Amino acid sequence: MIIDLHELLQEDNGNRSYHLQLEADVFETSTASYKIKDYDLQLSFHNEGKKHISSRCEGFVVLEIPCDRCLEPVDYKIDIDYFKDLDMNKTAEEKIAELDEDYYLEGTSFDTEVLIHNEVLVNLPMKVLCRENCKGICNRCGANLNLGSCKCDDAELDPRMSKILDIFNQFKEV
Ligand SMILES: [Zn+2]
Ligand SMILES: [Zn+2]
Repeated sequence: MIIDLHELLQEDNGNRSYHLQLEADVFETSTASYKIKDYDLQLSFHNEGKKHISSRCEGFVVLEIPCDRCLEPVDYKIDIDYFKDLDMNKTAEEKIAELDEDYYLEGTSFDTEVLIHNEVLVNLPMKVLCRENCKGICNRCGANLNLGSCKCDDAELDPRMSKILDIFNQFKEV
């Protein structure tokens, strides 16, 4: 949604508040795409005077992210708590020079989709696990080892490999 702040800019002490409706139902990054399962986002603006508008967005987005080990979908909640003072005196050139680019703000047009995308992106976890001790999938048959062991057991291991495993296990016991 695009919100035009032009009118608010004329109202000293004016306020605006929005309950956001996202247009997309998937969250895209350069490498992945996650289903948006749920969200609740409240965006508000306050005219602070002297062409400054403070903006705040609070809420959460729930994304369906595959477990890093077993690939089962996990509902992952990302809390959003954004606050920024928008200085509407600055020109686009000044903002670029100061590395203070609000990609969601163009003139007085505030793009809520871009804001939320940025905020979710910076809060994305490096990896998500379905449980702390997820056993992952068997790298031979692909079975989900959380649901039980598969048939590729140690018996099939090359005897030389078992020796190495024995040594490895000795170390673990120390
Ligand atoms: Zn898992
Ligand atoms: Zn297996």
